[in-house]
Amino acid sequence: FDLKNDTDFTILQELGQGNGGSVMKVQHVPTGTVMAKKIVLIDAKPAERKKIVLELQIMHDCDSQYIVSSYGAYLAEPNICICMEFMDKGSFDGIYKRIGAIDIRVVGKVAVAVLEGLRYLYDVHRIIHRDIKPSNILCNSSGDIKLCDFGVSGELVNSIANTFVGTSIYMSVRLSSPSPSPSYLSFPYSLASLILVCYSTLTRSLCSLPQPERIQGATYSVKSDIWSLGITLIELSVGQFPFSGSFSDSEDNDNDSDLEHDRDSDMPPPPPPKDSSPFTPSSPHSSGNGGDATPNPRDSLQIPSSAARRRRRSKGVSLHGGGMMMSIIELMHQIVNEPSPRLPQGKFGREADEFVNACLEKEVERRGTPRELFDYAWISNSRENGMDMKAWAATF
Ligand code: ADP
Ligand code: MG
Repeated sequence: FDLKNDTDFTILQELGQGNGGSVMKVQHVPTGTVMAKKIVLIDAKPAERKKIVLELQIMHDCDSQYIVSSYGAYLAEPNICICMEFMDKGSFDGIYKRIGAIDIRVVGKVAVAVLEGLRYLYDVHRIIHRDIKPSNILCNSSGDIKLCDFGVSGELVNSIANTFVGTSIYMSVRLSSPSPSPSYLSFPYSLASLILVCYSTLTRSLCSLPQPERIQGATYSVKSDIWSLGITLIELSVGQFPFSGSFSDSEDNDNDSDLEHDRDSDMPPPPPPKDSSPFTPSSPHSSGNGGDATPNPRDSLQIPSSAARRRRRSKGVSLHGGGMMMSIIELMHQIVNEPSPRLPQGKFGREADEFVNACLEKEVERRGTPRELFDYAWISNSRENGMDMKAWAATF
């Protein structure tokens, strides 16, 4: 493929909007190939942009059945366009919002695919994904499950961050806060870190739900992806983001936050806080300082698209009011200080529980590596659980 400019493409459909831009279903006219084209607005100098495109070529070299393949990337000022394999069943967030909680056997297949994808990225390319969440796990009608949007380009991530902040606040959090005791943030470090991370959460564009260690200032590692995997597995099997909060979810495929509206009426009511929540253990759990969570739909962590901002403004809703900041601070606080979310006890079996709990171990040292997690019974059993993924994908 020689992807050079926009004129080679016919737009077929918009697939979704994220923080960094939008994704379109397109046809590459010279070859007739249908692709998903991600358009990202970036703020980078020409030399940096070229470097970003070069870095994105790494995606080209990825060859795994668990990674969405790439056709290449090109610059279309002021955007960068990333062309990838089109996954016709979309992402798992869209799937569970459409069909409800996902069959635990399918969730098991997702766990296998994500672990395999992470192992491939790390072992072969030394890449950490950095953004594991249902919207970055895609499915097609053959029943394949693949990862997309991995942190291939540090340069790209920086440029997107700079679009909003001008400097990487994230770095200052990392540098300035030596991690205190694992489950407890000491004042005033904690507050400073929380505010900085919250602010960067609001302003940084490729961000998603942070892991406990990131809030506490530790370095990102492949184990941070594992924590995100644990949260994702709960979200899919329960059909709801396990941190429920005082503000609402947003419309599907519209990742903006909306602080002053109630959750979508078709969503189950948010679980009550703490002990009565189906997501938290009823007794203090193995991990000692478990780590969980609380308020806020995942979507609230994302920056509204400009279209969404406009819509909101016309509805008279303030997006950057203190309420949102407070809710995000509360979320960060709970990720660090509360026990980790759990699968509803007894519902999906001990093996699934053990695996998810191992992913959501708050202390990084105690959390499993992808390699160790392959040894869990739930993973080996999920490989051969008899679920016909192709037939399943044909049901929606
Ligand atoms: P986010 O992942 O935060 O939702 P993105 O901009 O990365 O934002 O993607 C927006 C949506 O586009 C995703 O939720 C997904 O449903 C859809 N999408 C992304 N890549 C593909 C692809 N390769 N094939 C099909 N749909 C895709
Ligand atoms: Mg994505």
